Amino acid sequence: MGSPLELLTYHSDVFLEIGSQLSLALAKREMKGVVIDNTEQPLFKTQPVGEVLPFSFSSTQIKMAQFMAEYYGCSLGEVLNLCVPYEIETHFGELIHSAVEVDITLSKNQNDALDFIRSHPVSLLFGDTGAGKSEIYMKRMDEILSEGKRALLLLPEISLTPQMEERFKRHFGEVFVLWHSKMTPKQKKITLAKIYDGSARIVAGPRSALFLPIKDLGIIVVDEEHDESYKSSSRPRYHARDMAVYTGKLLNIPVVLGSATPSLSSYAKYPYFRLRGGYYTSKRTFVFEPSVEALTPFIDEAIVKNYQDEHQGIVFIPTRANFKYMMCDGCGYTIECPFCSVGMSLHRNAKALKCHYCNYTEVLPRLCPKCQSSKLTNSRLGTAEAVEHLCTLTEGMKVEQFDRDVITTQNKLIKTLKAFNNREIDLLVGTQMLSKGHDYHDITLAVVMGIDNLLAQADYRSREKALSLLIQIAGRSGRKEDSTVIVQSFNEPFFRPYLDDYELFLQSELRLREGKYPPYKKLARLLYSHANGLKAKEVMEEASAQLNTVPTIEVVGFGASPIEKIGGKHRFQILLRSEKSTELIRAIKSVKSPLCEIDMDPIEFT
Ligand SMILES: [Zn+2]
Ligand SMILES: [Zn+2]
Repeated sequence: MGSPLELLTYHSDVFLEIGSQLSLALAKREMKGVVIDNTEQPLFKTQPVGEVLPFSFSSTQIKMAQFMAEYYGCSLGEVLNLCVPYEIETHFGELIHSAVEVDITLSKNQNDALDFIRSHPVSLLFGDTGAGKSEIYMKRMDEILSEGKRALLLLPEISLTPQMEERFKRHFGEVFVLWHSKMTPKQKKITLAKIYDGSARIVAGPRSALFLPIKDLGIIVVDEEHDESYKSSSRPRYHARDMAVYTGKLLNIPVVLGSATPSLSSYAKYPYFRLRGGYYTSKRTFVFEPSVEALTPFIDEAIVKNYQDEHQGIVFIPTRANFKYMMCDGCGYTIECPFCSVGMSLHRNAKALKCHYCNYTEVLPRLCPKCQSSKLTNSRLGTAEAVEHLCTLTEGMKVEQFDRDVITTQNKLIKTLKAFNNREIDLLVGTQMLSKGHDYHDITLAVVMGIDNLLAQADYRSREKALSLLIQIAGRSGRKEDSTVIVQSFNEPFFRPYLDDYELFLQSELRLREGKYPPYKKLARLLYSHANGLKAKEVMEEASAQLNTVPTIEVVGFGASPIEKIGGKHRFQILLRSEKSTELIRAIKSVKSPLCEIDMDPIEFT
């Protein structure tokens, strides 16, 4: 299991159920295997299977794995390695009916939404932040539970906070369990035991939770369905939202997708219910500051004033560290990572330059490595630098950094969010992490910097990404009182018309993509990487020439990847387009190579 190998044939004296997990000898090593099919004795010599283990994959898991292997171009073993098998001998306990402590009353609007998701196998709940999507999920889950079934709630990893857990536990009690990657092995074991014996009736987790052995699953809810963390960025590069919809079809159960800024693909594909407004009557004012990314006097003053008015604020910057780049004014050289073709970022506290792609670290240089000039300057402000500056603005204001460099564990995330909600922190300065559905209570100022860099990315989704991020961050503010959102950008004409109406954007974006991009066309990216750049290039060019002869697909582009080297490996790519994914899959199979990684429905192009 987990190997990229094709299927192997073994023999057994006893009949083996499909899905059974067993131990196998492979090249003198003990491995875990899964029975995929029973076959007549072949002409070649086969080895006996080892011990039959007390675990088994369900037929749904096997079907899902077969689909994923075919669609995402990986081996069955690689997918089954993601799946957690069922325990065979488990005594399935009595259904525990939890005492609902706090009942939920829905508004008229929410009730209409509930009716809507009840009557569609796949539905999109397109609801503004604060419009009460969670209550609708909970009500629908109540119904599913009363039928004796179970529910799965998928969320972006970073949204699995104690606040969210508390909210669900208050309603569902102990039958609600959380699953996430930062759990200790012991915590995982305890949770799995509850899933095995059926006492866990609602499981919430990130994309990996889709592969848990939940019996009698009756509904899958994918919250924040637009979130990019649902797409895996390593083999197999699957999309958990799409796989949730597929699993729903296999099991014949409803799937509900929810977001305030739904992805264009879901908006175009699924019936949706527009849930507007909500509990918050406060006003949100957007102010644009057309200047390049920097903490300007205008922003500084707004932050100080907000603090003096005894309010809290957040500042979004897309870059971690102090600065993204270090450049030489003498010769114009940008200091790059020796293993990646990207600039090294300045981490002043660590007195180091770090590569954010391979983690290579080197001491802060005093002179330019190319021309020995001492005129080194920095560009593209990062969170750490902003915190250093903002701390000096006014006495007493407590400013904290909120990004991957600081929030390294689940505990730190919990602590920081708690301190912020207890008003022990006045200002949070963070990256994308800030936008992920955290429930902050009293933010009256949100500053969004660097959004123009996102908008300028060479990516057909750059407009969608930039606007949804802006709306998500703005949505963290103004829950109680009127708030101001300062957007540092030269692109007010693009953003302004859509700030209060994301659907208007989706409609205009649909028109732009027609005939070129998803949801109208299917894309696939073939990524070739190797330490020997010439070799990778050669294999890529050969494949590209061959693919060019396939009439049902189109080679949109090929060549060096925008980031030509990562971790010492040279990278080349081919972008393919077609009307149908089946045509793409067939064509890609004909050029299969160990150097090539297949990325179906890609969302990153670097
Ligand atoms: Zn220089
Ligand atoms: Zn690097």
